[in-house]
Order: sequence, then C-alpha cells, then structure tokens
Amino acid sequence: MCCGNKAIENRAVLPEAIDSELIKGMLFFDPHVHMTSRTTDDYQAMADAGIVALIEPSFWLGQPRTNAGTFTDYYSSLLGWERFRSGQFGIKHYCTIGLNSREANNEALAEEVMALLPKFIYKEGVVGIGEIGFDDQTALEEKYYRLQLQMAKDAALPVQVHTPHRDKKKGTQRSMDIAVEEGMDPSMVIIDHNNEETVEEVLNRGFWAAFTIYPFTKMGNERMVEIVKKYGAERIMVNSAADWGISDPLAVPKTALLMKQKGISDAVIKAVTYTNAITAFGQSGQIDTTDFENGFMINQSEKFENNSVLRGGQQPRIDKSSIIIK
Ligand SMILES: [Zn+2]
Repeated sequence: MCCGNKAIENRAVLPEAIDSELIKGMLFFDPHVHMTSRTTDDYQAMADAGIVALIEPSFWLGQPRTNAGTFTDYYSSLLGWERFRSGQFGIKHYCTIGLNSREANNEALAEEVMALLPKFIYKEGVVGIGEIGFDDQTALEEKYYRLQLQMAKDAALPVQVHTPHRDKKKGTQRSMDIAVEEGMDPSMVIIDHNNEETVEEVLNRGFWAAFTIYPFTKMGNERMVEIVKKYGAERIMVNSAADWGISDPLAVPKTALLMKQKGISDAVIKAVTYTNAITAFGQSGQIDTTDFENGFMINQSEKFENNSVLRGGQQPRIDKSSIIIK
C-alpha cells in the first residue's frame, strides 16, 4: 500500500456551497470553463455562488478526435445544448471557437477543421477564437495558430490563447511575438494560464493576463492574491478552466472570497472576477450585460430539441413572478 496522503491530495473537488457573507451579492464571470465536462450539480453550485455568466472555450476532449464531423457536433453543442443547459440554471453561456493546439498536430484533420471554423465563428454568442496556441510548441501548432490569428483579425474577434504547461515562459513569449507578427492588437488578445514568471511581460506588452486557479497545484488562489497585490487589477482576470480533470468550477468565487479576507478592495475583486473579462471579450460585440446582470427567468420545463435537463418525476423550477433569481 502506498500514498495515503497522495490520495487525499488528489481527491476530486466537490462543488460544495461557499458559505460566506463576505461575497454575498457579488456577481462573477468565469471566462474559461469547460461545462460540457461538468454536471448539473456544478451549474447549481456556480449559480448559488454568484456566477452569472461564463465562457466555454472549445478545447481538446481528452483523447484525439478522428474525423472532422465530431468537431462540427462539438461546436454545435457549445452553441446549442450546452448554452441551453447553462440557461436552465440562470447562467448566461458564451463560447470561443477554435482548433486547439494538440489536435493541430494532425495536419489532415486540422485542414478540415479550419474549413469548418468560418461556419461557427460568426454565430451569436461566440466571443472569440479560442482556445488556441501552443502545447508542445511544434511547427504544425505554429502554422494553425497563425492561421487562426489571421481569421480572428479578419473577423474582428478577440483571441483566447492557451499557453503551454511545459516551457511556459518561452511558449508565452512566442505566443505574444506571433500574435503581433500576425497584426493582432495586444488589446484583442487574452493570454491564458499565466503565472508569476509570465505576468509582468504580458502586462507590459499590453496583452490581457488571465490566470487559471488550479486546486492543489500550479496556480493556487493564495498565489493569485499575491499577484493582484503586486500588479493591481488592470487587464488581469481569473478563471477556473474547470474541465474533465481535477478542477474546481467555483475557483472564481473562492478566489474572490480569499481576496476579500486578505483585505483586497471590492473594486479590485470586481475587476479581476467580473468586469475585465467582460471588457476584453465584449470587444466581440457579443456581450450585453443586461442579459445577466439582473438575473433571468429560469423555466426548467423548457426543452431543447425535445430534451430537458430534468429526469422522470422531477419538478421543474419555474420563476413566474420575478426575473430576479435570488
Ligand atoms: Zn481550457
């Protein structure tokens, strides 16, 4: 037998309710969360914690796809079923559409996916091209990153850049260099998965700096508090990047709570957990805050192409008299 403590460290993060008056009434926007991989319990916990809107970037699903048709269905689900499911819990759902870096390494497939993208990137609720960029920093990753930057520029859409976990500093610098070479204005580029090593240069060069709060490892929320203390709020945003791995869909409100406990002002907390993401991705012209700032009507008896989020015998939640959900 081994690893008693390890098992505890690696346990899944349950979306338990955040029981604190300190952040009650605050609104949160999670600009990077893969809800397709999450459950209705997660949606409920996120809504209860004050998350009113989110962005779901298209990404790698954990194993390589074998044909372009599965990309069509995936992109369609982000615009259709997942948006519906999110709305059933009172959370406004946006997405970014793109060919992720890992699958850019299958050139034949990548060519087919590139041909699909123009059919999706102009749809309502698509707030950028993403998440794109480098994984292993290969030539093919660079080729499709450049092509998608050109696509974003032509479409006047922001870009959500995934930076590599290995050799991060070099990969982040290269991602910014290439974005500039392709004619992107840094104010239209959100560099994601930053850490203490990358943040200064990203901000100095005029890009947005997004931080993924990973439970237990990498970028924890204690470290995020220190970064905000050092650099302030300008062009910084936090996200959960919760997906099919060990991750926490409540990372944004939990970080806000920790910031509040550590004496960071409400104005700074609001900027990094809500406003900055809206400003950055709002450059797409696709975000109208009146859609979510006052809550919206939930009617769980609604269906999407004949499917409901309810299971047999469950009573739908229907808000009749008020559009305020709490
Ligand atoms: Zn992601």
